[in-house]
Amino acid sequence: MKIVALSFTILMLVSCGKVANTSSPDSVISADAARWPNPKLVPICFTNKDVVSQEIYRDLLNTAVNEFAKAGVHFRKWRECEAQDYNDSIIRVQFKNVYNWNNSSYSYGGGKSKVGMTRRALNDGNGSTLWIKLDDDYPNQEGRKRDTVIAGTRSAFLHEIGHALGLLHEHTRTDYNPDGGECEAGENHDNIRESAGDIDYIGRPDYDSVMSYCNLKVAKLSQGDIAGIQALYPELKD
Ligand SMILES: [Zn+2]
Repeated sequence: MKIVALSFTILMLVSCGKVANTSSPDSVISADAARWPNPKLVPICFTNKDVVSQEIYRDLLNTAVNEFAKAGVHFRKWRECEAQDYNDSIIRVQFKNVYNWNNSSYSYGGGKSKVGMTRRALNDGNGSTLWIKLDDDYPNQEGRKRDTVIAGTRSAFLHEIGHALGLLHEHTRTDYNPDGGECEAGENHDNIRESAGDIDYIGRPDYDSVMSYCNLKVAKLSQGDIAGIQALYPELKD
């Protein structure tokens, strides 16, 4: 499950440093996050979509469309951002092309997003409200590396959109205690400034959540992620 935000002013930033269980419908939501007025049609655009291959763009599009549809969330626009978009409340995505997936060692994942609806850009976002790190092309060769990079990039994108809807980090729940004890999340906890607002825990800790740093390669929403989104937007249950 998830952490979700519930009221209406927010400027929480969530920085995700994922570079790198089990389950139930639970989640963490920001009680302070501004809600999208129509979660069945959330506007999204891209500030620099041409810096990545069509394969990546389409892959992320398909992943987000298919996964968030499970919660009843759909998107509109889904194109290059236009001038007016920079004055409007819309998820503006920037691709930060910083990795080199043709190296023998490689990184994947990582991103940042505003929590909830906003028209204000991230400080380091060049006009965007959400960015993720990637390379311009997925690795060409089939194999584990390619699979890992794809899964991690999909996961990062779902995670950041989750923030944009109002979800917070599952692994920062005070009752979060995965079976294995520590997970990869630990070192990144202090990037997070969530204490600024009201937080609601929905259900029990969700060890499958895409909002947890313990699941850096989980490229799908958990039942808890869906429950968290529907706690933020009860109209989606209809
Ligand atoms: Zn995050």
